[in-house]
Amino acid sequence: MADTVESAVMAVLQSGNSKYADAGQIKEASEKLYSFGLCALCILRYIQLPIGPSYCVRSADAIYKALGIEAKQDQKPDEESLCVKPCPACLGILDLTVADHIVGQFKAEDYDTMDALVGIELPKSIYIRHRAVQIAGRQQNIPSAAENVPEVKDVFRYLFTQQLSIVCDVKANATNDMRIDIAFSHPETATEHQFLNIRKKEPASNSSDRKNGTFKASADRSKTVVLSDLGACADDEFTKHSTCPPPAIETAAKIDSLIFKRASLFIGGRYLKLERNISQTPFVVEGRRMTELSVAEVIGEPLERLIRCDSYNLVGSGREDADVRMLGDGRPFYIECINPRFKAVTKEQIQDIEDQLTSSNSPVQVRRLQVIPAKDTSIIKEGEEHKTKHYCALVWFSQPLNPDKLVEINTLGKNGILLQQKTPVRVLHRRAPLTRPKRLLNVELSHIEDRFYKVRIESEAGAYIKEFVHGDLGRTTPSLADLAGVTADILELDVEGVSLDFPPTPKDTIV
Ligand SMILES: [Zn+2]
Repeated sequence: MADTVESAVMAVLQSGNSKYADAGQIKEASEKLYSFGLCALCILRYIQLPIGPSYCVRSADAIYKALGIEAKQDQKPDEESLCVKPCPACLGILDLTVADHIVGQFKAEDYDTMDALVGIELPKSIYIRHRAVQIAGRQQNIPSAAENVPEVKDVFRYLFTQQLSIVCDVKANATNDMRIDIAFSHPETATEHQFLNIRKKEPASNSSDRKNGTFKASADRSKTVVLSDLGACADDEFTKHSTCPPPAIETAAKIDSLIFKRASLFIGGRYLKLERNISQTPFVVEGRRMTELSVAEVIGEPLERLIRCDSYNLVGSGREDADVRMLGDGRPFYIECINPRFKAVTKEQIQDIEDQLTSSNSPVQVRRLQVIPAKDTSIIKEGEEHKTKHYCALVWFSQPLNPDKLVEINTLGKNGILLQQKTPVRVLHRRAPLTRPKRLLNVELSHIEDRFYKVRIESEAGAYIKEFVHGDLGRTTPSLADLAGVTADILELDVEGVSLDFPPTPKDTIV
């Protein structure tokens, strides 16, 4: 292992890119950096060793040997770490256990991904402390500490992505699919950069950040502000406020937030609801479930188990009331699986879920279930405006209609009926009170027996069918009750068809 560091140091010396002429000068500089209390990796950084495999050496001893540092017995870190106390330059972030720990957490989630975009946010005191090492380096003749020092963030990124590749076989890439966001904080030094604000006329608070609203943008901006303020602060002014080299610390930086986030997986299909009293999504009023089953749960739960997502949402092409059945070839919908661990779902696995609902005679059935590309979800939203629907209702009239009346209604119904619908009383609490014109494309009434009738209706999207039947206290005109000249009530309603071609034709390959 020592070979790796030694040969890397030799390679830099020979390339002529080093601030040092020979191993003796490197030893001298390294020992000064060691006396600052820096960890073995920060010593490598401040002698300007380029980022590479030497930084993965898991032994302070091996690095000391390679650089010629003679460590005092009581100043030797134990085998597991690279520093006796938390390193005052990297705040312990370069300690190998830190990257190992995060990689371990990521592995436990078991994402079936090949790539990840890695975002890293460091405590701002890192930049203050870097400046303090630079100044101490100038004062104590360590020329390599002044500039072109590999940054903590870049070294950490290297350590982390190496480990990620070895342990999880995941490469760090600029992918849109998987993000790993790591943010460190260090409460002990959290106020060290504040003198920069005081020395300026205007404090570095920034109203534009607040407008942006996001925490991330604001954190990035303050880092930029700290760096630019540091650039404008002369050494002699800096040393009035900060100790050089940076003072020892008692605690290491901690992981403030660690977020693994993967782009959603979308599953599309058409659902059938063969029984009444099933809502489309869980129907809860004041903490009490109003329906035992929901379409979203019946289909979503087996998908959630297969895909191992955090949660899921069902989006239907419209929705029917809980007491309305959904028949025919079903209603188009998609389920968004949020933060999925498993995306390489096969056609067979999806088909199994569909088949199990069929074979168990579930009151909710699904057809054409399949993985769909994210862009196809827009078909559902766009279809909202244009699709037509077919309904069948069981209607009761206060008295039987004479046959002429039946013919009259059906003749009218063939040519379509234009309704003026005020927002129904039953949805007034959640929809704006408006009058909407809605067209019924076809209405066909037939007698069953006594006062019971069946009415089949083809309508454009958004018409309220129950209200068309009973009139909603005169809020829908004309209504079937108006046309029949009697009182009407709707006993049962089924949706028999939703004319939207979704999902698009099944594909052989999973996107
Ligand atoms: Zn360090």
